[in-house]
Amino acid sequence: MRYSQTLIPTVKEVPAEAEIPSHQLMIRAGFIRKVASGTYTYLPLGNRSLLKIIAIVREEMNRAGAQEILMPVLQPMELWEATGRREDYGETLAWFEDRHGRENVLAPTAEEVVTSLVAAEINSYRQLPVNLYQINTKVRDEFRPRFGVLRSREFIMKDAYSFHANVDDLEKTYRAMYDAYCRIFSRCGLKYVAVEADSGPIGGSASHEFMVPCSAGEDVIVHAEDFSYAANLEKAEIDAPAASPQLAAARQAAPAMEEVHTPGVGSIEAVCNFLKNRPADMIKTLVYTSGKDVIVALLRGDHEANENKLRRACDGAALEMAPPEVIKNVTSAAVGFAGPQGLAGKITRLIVDNSVAAMTSGVTGANKTDYHVRNVVPGRDFPLSGANVVVADIRNAVDGDTRGGKALKFSRGIEVGHVFKLGTKYSQKLSANFLDEQGQKQPCIMGCYGIGINRILASAIEMGHDDNGCVLPIAIAPFEVLVVPINISNPEVMGAAERIYKDLQAGGADVLLDDRDARPGVKFKDADLLGIPLRIVVGEKSLKEGKVELKARTEAKPTLVDLGAAVARTLDLAAQLKSQLSGESR
Ligand code: ATP
Ligand code: MG
Repeated sequence: MRYSQTLIPTVKEVPAEAEIPSHQLMIRAGFIRKVASGTYTYLPLGNRSLLKIIAIVREEMNRAGAQEILMPVLQPMELWEATGRREDYGETLAWFEDRHGRENVLAPTAEEVVTSLVAAEINSYRQLPVNLYQINTKVRDEFRPRFGVLRSREFIMKDAYSFHANVDDLEKTYRAMYDAYCRIFSRCGLKYVAVEADSGPIGGSASHEFMVPCSAGEDVIVHAEDFSYAANLEKAEIDAPAASPQLAAARQAAPAMEEVHTPGVGSIEAVCNFLKNRPADMIKTLVYTSGKDVIVALLRGDHEANENKLRRACDGAALEMAPPEVIKNVTSAAVGFAGPQGLAGKITRLIVDNSVAAMTSGVTGANKTDYHVRNVVPGRDFPLSGANVVVADIRNAVDGDTRGGKALKFSRGIEVGHVFKLGTKYSQKLSANFLDEQGQKQPCIMGCYGIGINRILASAIEMGHDDNGCVLPIAIAPFEVLVVPINISNPEVMGAAERIYKDLQAGGADVLLDDRDARPGVKFKDADLLGIPLRIVVGEKSLKEGKVELKARTEAKPTLVDLGAAVARTLDLAAQLKSQLSGESR
């Protein structure tokens, strides 16, 4: 491709609306232009990169045995009502009413559509497993579109859905997809971590998120220093505090509970200010409901409840924060003054976080409006055992926590992909059943597997850039080689550059020829900004000596090479760079 004939509108200034490097550079290098909040046009360079990513994804999906299909972006709302997700998706679901009064969803994902396809077309275990994928536009009315294409309202997703007759078979496909994801991200040149995510309906770790660790990421990765363990915050497991030999004695020595008047002081922070204690000295009493059941969870004042872990401690029951009238009913006090003492008989279950169970004593609400109590001793003033008492890990990990004895670290990451064992949630609701070997009707067991195509490009730039521009991995850079003649009006220079350009193309390289009549400074600046991995400069002076300059984007200085050897050398380097991209994950 010739630069002069390609739309590459590079920009010198850092765009004011772009907060993070990848967003700034995608605009500055002429990869994208914003159309409206969260929607972008990909210009030729950005589009070339996307197409390269798509080609890698497609190749690896096919290799893993998935079959490509293409589903519509418009989906009937009835399907979303059948699965209850019209409500679950909430305002993120974009939809419109058509001229006939029918409601249409703009696909944010496609479980409903693909499951209804399988419900109609598959009826025997003999037709299973099947793994269907598409690469298509998704629309989500994100609350806060930002960071350019990292969180946009319209993006391209590769979404795959697998259907199985049994859990073992799902496990095999899940593993195959997991491995395919590793290959995809390695081939795209990303450094990534596969983190354990939600435990789903099938047990074990039902899901993994593929994260690119970087400061712009919106997700938190909780991990051991060496990444031998990595999980998201929802899932990260924490060691229970080691039993302290002094604990029992300290509790024995603790004074009796003492009520203190704390008028209008309800929040942890306010109580701490008022009583001059630390949040870690407080026992936070959270009241939940699950149908008719009332569940009380106890956490240290400086810890946050983890909804997933709480749900597990309640045998999977969905919990909701109790409304004020329930709290008043159970505690006989206004909201903000609940405590665990004396609740037996009024609640269905008490769940005590491991860290609370390790406290000598704490400050908590007195179950009396405007009062708190000091010296509340676990095991003495509220139970730590019994039929309705569970002591468990129900909080988010914090600094200082360990897992398997290893200190947990916190890093930010960008989620580029997600593999998930769904179970029968969708197949049951949409009747995607099959007859098993015994002729019994069973719902298909499903897995789903998503990749954000645009996010791969943005995170590659987030990872790979310097002060001068993008530093792109060769597999997804818009071009592999940039040929830069200096002074195009010199026929010898231009002739040599054209020959190199054509020979590189003949050798299979993807080449951009900067045939613009522009100053060398302008060409060099743009070359750095675009981030094309290899650059050949054809200058008058070196050409007189039969040489051209060859430089990798990652190197500071060019190497002079013989004109006659330049093409072979460049193709060789390109091949080397590509072979490095089968690289290791962390
Ligand atoms: P997030 O937590 O970042 O919103 P998600 O859990 O909603 O992601 P999935 O529904 O699993 O994402 O979608 C699969 C993939 O699609 C994600 O791993 C991500 O790479 C991509 N993706 C999701 N939302 C967006 C978005 N708003 N913009 C760009 N890519 C997205
Ligand atoms: Mg989301």
